[in-house]
Amino acid sequence: MSSSSSSPPPPAAPPPPPGLLHVVIFPFMAKGHIIPLVNLARLLFLHRNNITVTIFTTQANSAFIRRSLCDTKASIVDLTFPKFTHPDIPQGIESADKLPSPSLFFAFANKTKLLQPEFERVVESLHPDVSCIISDVFFPWSLESASKLSIPRYEFNACSNFTVTIYHILANQDFPVDSNDELFTLAPNFPNIKLTKNDLEPEITDPQPGETTDLFTDIFKATSKTDGIISNSFYELESEFEDYLNREKSPPKVWSVGPLCLAAAAKVANLDEHKKKSSWINWLDEMLDADKPVLYVAFGSLAEITIEQFRELAIGLENSGEHFLWVLRLSSGDDEFMSEFEERVKGRGLLVKNQWVDQLEILRHDSVEGFMSHCGWNSMLESICESVPLLGFPITADQYWNARMVEEYYGIGVKVVTKNGSVRGFFSSECIAKKVKELMNIESEKGKEIRKSVKNLSEKARNAMEEGGSSWHALETLIDQIIWGKKKK
Ligand code: UDP
Repeated sequence: MSSSSSSPPPPAAPPPPPGLLHVVIFPFMAKGHIIPLVNLARLLFLHRNNITVTIFTTQANSAFIRRSLCDTKASIVDLTFPKFTHPDIPQGIESADKLPSPSLFFAFANKTKLLQPEFERVVESLHPDVSCIISDVFFPWSLESASKLSIPRYEFNACSNFTVTIYHILANQDFPVDSNDELFTLAPNFPNIKLTKNDLEPEITDPQPGETTDLFTDIFKATSKTDGIISNSFYELESEFEDYLNREKSPPKVWSVGPLCLAAAAKVANLDEHKKKSSWINWLDEMLDADKPVLYVAFGSLAEITIEQFRELAIGLENSGEHFLWVLRLSSGDDEFMSEFEERVKGRGLLVKNQWVDQLEILRHDSVEGFMSHCGWNSMLESICESVPLLGFPITADQYWNARMVEEYYGIGVKVVTKNGSVRGFFSSECIAKKVKELMNIESEKGKEIRKSVKNLSEKARNAMEEGGSSWHALETLIDQIIWGKKKK
């Protein structure tokens, strides 16, 4: 018998006083950050019914959050985004999806620092006292706020643990290759995943002095001093990366409490019971009745593609011969091409332009057999949870290696490739059509294999979120840590 098994168990901590746990959540103003954090709020209520949750946002983002949480006890604080001037950002913009170009993302993120004084004033005035702040990673300034107010700060990362790992490794080493397209292994004691410099944004491979580099520097600093990293992932999906981070980078510890989209599941079903069906869901119903499997095509809330790439994608979809539902953001007019294209694909291709759709509802539809996605992390998780195989069409940021992981690591789909094989570049209509057919060939060996893999991960995701599962357990432990580790004022 080991000595530890004979020693008496440590005295159990007394239960916390009811009603005193107060979590403040502050998502960055972009749908890919707001949605998972709203789902985290829902999840906290499922774990502790006597918890107080206050979500901070700005006035222009408030309605979306209020609607999403209207069936919960969450309080919402609308801060006033102070006026600022920037040569390329029009007055009054308060969310990343309203920016004239995604390239202004970091400039906009830098301006959120203007919210700090009001944020601190309101947090200090809240009752009961705030137990912890869950801050978006893009608010590194909230570290100072938390420290001033003696409140623990946890950081929420809207990306995968693999992404956090990549940034961690690359911040601490030089690139082992010069060329942009040569594959390299991230670290010797790391899973055998190879990337090229082209997988990474120039802000990482070739940082230039300026506000983006300053923001990254602030983020790295804040992350290293934060009390923990809350991750929208689950251990069974990213065990190698979570273990790596908790071994090499910890503290702060990484807590994988997702996939958070699974916390939205009950809400969508209950709230939408009496809602009129959208035209696209009616169309999917028709496709199901006609036994036509549908490819869902959507690139999230921010990404933009060039007109040339857009046309090539349209031609690729047309030439694939498959049925598709394409949800698209169309900023500049390409009206003639579009109307001719729509006419040609009538009956087997439906376009939904510049409208917000309930993506989870689409992915859950029985007719949807594939998802051509930019591989934003939320979209990827949602596809996994709904057992829909992916066709990676990466456009920016972490999407290049997410798409790589879809095919090379998880085997839950395929990805488009550029003509010259480089990660970045133009995707031809021929390649797009070929990959669409490959993904949608349900009866092929590969088609069966990827569906089996994605179903397997979906089951693991659901188990992780069930009572006793890895994510459930992580959130329970984290809540206990927040309660018992609470710093006194
Ligand atoms: N989304 C949605 N309807 C839309 C567009 C996007 O529900 O019309 C949701 C999508 O389900 C996901 C989030 O917005 O939860 C987008 O996050 P993701 O990480 O996939 O991409 P991003 O928009 O951050 O690039």
